[in-house]
Amino acid sequence: MPPPLIIAIDGPSGAGKSTLGRMLARSLGLLYIDTGSMYRAVALAVIESSTNETDDVAVSVLAEKVDIGLAGDPDSLRVTLDGRDVSDRVRDDDVTNMSSIISTIPAVRRAMVQRQRELGKRGAVMNGRDIGTVVFPDADVKFFLTAVPEERAERRLAEEREHNPAATYDQTLVDITERDRRDTTRADSPLAAAADAIMIDSTGQAIAEVFQRMMSEVEKRS
Ligand code: C5P
Repeated sequence: MPPPLIIAIDGPSGAGKSTLGRMLARSLGLLYIDTGSMYRAVALAVIESSTNETDDVAVSVLAEKVDIGLAGDPDSLRVTLDGRDVSDRVRDDDVTNMSSIISTIPAVRRAMVQRQRELGKRGAVMNGRDIGTVVFPDADVKFFLTAVPEERAERRLAEEREHNPAATYDQTLVDITERDRRDTTRADSPLAAAADAIMIDSTGQAIAEVFQRMMSEVEKRS
């Protein structure tokens, strides 16, 4: 049997990682693992337990203790926290902001990376911020997806409007700019492209076009 294929997709928010990751996983018959959902589940646990997000030790204890589940096929992935389906709740603004804060804590990252390595060991398309650099530095194919912030904000806004009709473009742009800043400047595992990552700028490109490009890169390397 060939060794399991690991495909890493990193990049800032709104670059198209989840849509493209799901498409790749479906086409290649691989598990799809959205690591952002795991940080979001920890963030929700922090909020619900009223843990102070600046208390690194308390947040890390929670990150190690909670049960996080990612279940279902790539198109209907459900996120569970201690057995409860929190798929919709983890997309709310307060959780989004909290996930970006608690993901700067090194012990939280260690706990998540350990779980991610375990989940991906039989092959996966895994997306996040540090997959090609930290979680699976030996991944078979690494992609780093980007797009200009204005276009990423447009994409995020379309998603957000599904559950928050009052969301505005200006606020979404401010929020993703702030999250990008936190993700790229944190000391532990900042968002960065691996030296051997394939860089793809999806600005102005149709998803189908980017998908074709990614599939041909996977075929070349696997
Ligand atoms: O990808 P998503 O936007 O759902 O991730 C939520 C937050 O979790 C990000 O803003 C980022 O701060 C953090 N994250 C991370 N490392 C990952 C995935 C997500 O730090 N591998």
